[in-house]
Amino acid sequence: MANATPVRVRFCPSPTGNPHVGLVRTALFNWAFARHHEGTLVFRIEDTDAARDSEESYNQLLDAMRWLGFDWDEGPEVGGPHAPYRQSQRMDIYQDVAQKLLDGGYAYHCYCTAEELEERREAARKAGKPSGYDGKCRAVTAEQKAAYEAEGRTSIVRFRMPDETITFTDLVRGELTFQPENVTDYGILRANGAPLYTLVNPVDDALMEITHILRGEDLLSSTPRQIALYKALIELGIAKQIPAFGHLPYVMGEGNKKLSKRDPQSSLNLYRERGFLPEGLLNYLSLLGWSFSEDQDIFSIDEMVAKFEIEDVNANPARFDLKKCEAINADHIRQLDVKDFTERCAPWLRAPFAPWDEADFDQSVFDAIAPHAQSRLKVLSEITDNVDFLFLKEPVFDEASWTKAMGKGDPVALLTTARAKLETADWSSPESLKEAVLAAGEEHGLKLGKAQAPVRVATTGRTVGLPLFESLEILGKDRTLARIDAALKKLAA
Ligand code: GLU
Ligand code: ZN
Repeated sequence: MANATPVRVRFCPSPTGNPHVGLVRTALFNWAFARHHEGTLVFRIEDTDAARDSEESYNQLLDAMRWLGFDWDEGPEVGGPHAPYRQSQRMDIYQDVAQKLLDGGYAYHCYCTAEELEERREAARKAGKPSGYDGKCRAVTAEQKAAYEAEGRTSIVRFRMPDETITFTDLVRGELTFQPENVTDYGILRANGAPLYTLVNPVDDALMEITHILRGEDLLSSTPRQIALYKALIELGIAKQIPAFGHLPYVMGEGNKKLSKRDPQSSLNLYRERGFLPEGLLNYLSLLGWSFSEDQDIFSIDEMVAKFEIEDVNANPARFDLKKCEAINADHIRQLDVKDFTERCAPWLRAPFAPWDEADFDQSVFDAIAPHAQSRLKVLSEITDNVDFLFLKEPVFDEASWTKAMGKGDPVALLTTARAKLETADWSSPESLKEAVLAAGEEHGLKLGKAQAPVRVATTGRTVGLPLFESLEILGKDRTLARIDAALKKLAA
């Protein structure tokens, strides 16, 4: 599927805070697009904001990319022809470009103070006019400049927007037009000379020869500015072409509000801790704005790559549905090879997740129960509660379960009969254990469901859990009988 012009896309997060699901979706769509077109994925770190960026967040980003299974062709740790890929190490490049823009008349110094700008904005608002920058400093003379500087004023550098309509065809939204009065001259260097996102992002996209920019809808308003900057960069011989743009739809969370970075529900770490599989999470996130087919929601990442076209992305906001995300994850858990499943459970089988003593954990016991658990989990962290009865010295009785199973009828009589029948049952087959409990129930006029509830609570602590007779077989005869004895004692007390 190789294209005439090789595809080059980029994923360029700023290392501020924890990675969030919106960011993951952007990474996924870029990665899938690059792989689908046998193109190049550039991973660039936009860390020019020293006040907000952190090394910890940078490390988390890399860790997240690896956990998700994304590879990149150029970027941190792999290098590439446009290195370095951390903007904090490219500062001299931006200074150089800013100077060329100034020299070419594409940018100018603006001496307006924050108060002056605010005053004029307010006046424009009152007059019902667009309130962007009014161009006052476009034509500052050398004399005025000297006077301003003598006054002690500092200046920022502004890019001069051409006074013309800007139209482009968004890969997701179709043709979009921006009027010049709504897209005014904008800052590219701060008063202290530090370059802004508005400069470094398109400059690097140009230098790194990015062909397609796929990013969130929140960045749509910066696109006409960047297109104008691109034109200047082409005239200066710095850029080769204006890339194509595709803006991915917003992701809505609870209450139909935009899912924000600060929303706890959006933190990638949360999904990792709860035991989402990367393949389950990516499958779900791919459906935020895209669909695989009308009747298929579950697919592998390779299947997604084979089908992914940016033109198929829907412009409408997508709704984040946690229930659906969990259901899809459950499906991917079921699809795992059982050995793989067992290995992936490992983090939840030890501290701080597991409540049992590490010495009481037995891998072969876990391997025996694992196939029964695999089909029942939405997320891997649920494994802990499902198997804790095997590794805790005593089951932890869930109070509601205890009341539900022991609070009516005659649990003492039932448990006493069941214990006697289990004692003589054949412990090498769950069928025989089931027959024992069934027979005990019959003696007391109870169906299997009612008869097994007290046995389940006595041995596992809860009314719901993994298939009971398989669980008891793995728990073993001695511990099962001892737990029934303990429950009888508790009932007698
Ligand atoms: N560093 C920017 C961000 O994280 C990148 C925006 C873009 O993709 O152009 O929002
Ligand atoms: Zn000004």
